[in-house]
Amino acid sequence: MIHEVLPVGMLQCNCSVFGDEETREALVIDPGDDIPGILEIVARHGLTVKAIVITHAHIDHIGGAQKLKRATGAPVYMNANDTELQRMLPAQAAWLGAPVPEQTSVDVAAKEGDSITIGGTDFHVLHTPGHTQGSISLWIPSERKLVAGDTLFRDSIGRTDLPGGDGRQILQSIHDKLLPLPEETIVIPGHGPETTIGREKRFNYFLRDLA
Ligand SMILES: [Zn+2]
Repeated sequence: MIHEVLPVGMLQCNCSVFGDEETREALVIDPGDDIPGILEIVARHGLTVKAIVITHAHIDHIGGAQKLKRATGAPVYMNANDTELQRMLPAQAAWLGAPVPEQTSVDVAAKEGDSITIGGTDFHVLHTPGHTQGSISLWIPSERKLVAGDTLFRDSIGRTDLPGGDGRQILQSIHDKLLPLPEETIVIPGHGPETTIGREKRFNYFLRDLA
């Protein structure tokens, strides 16, 4: 499967573009900004965007979603527990001193147990609250990849001091939903370099008390 990661916007959110080589269908995760850059990747591979997935409603992850939706006609998936946070987008923009992005109309309430199929590849929705109440991660078993949003980073975990954050809950989510995945699973976090489940199990200081 085609997979490109493009860091977008001033907080350099990792936007993922996945594409099926046969059907040329694509799924885009976290188009926070730089929609022209994302569309360039889509066009270069001759892809058609079938789904836009938001891992959580922070401005750096959702900021460009409506623009990408308009350009592609693809439905937007987001967990309903982040609806309130999404309404706070103007406040989020003010915290960063950034312009207020267009509001995104969400088409599908993505929840635990859902899966989105692109070509022959299943993207499983894992509800991993803690960074925000509606944070989701996408597990792609056939690719052995996890797109973790801001739940798990290389050597770190998501901050929990913003509205909707919960420090105990994020550890519970990581323990229950992410650490059971195969150790060789490649983790694409919401920011920064990729890692693996096995590496974070061994070296991530924030996970030291988790079995
Ligand atoms: Zn975030």
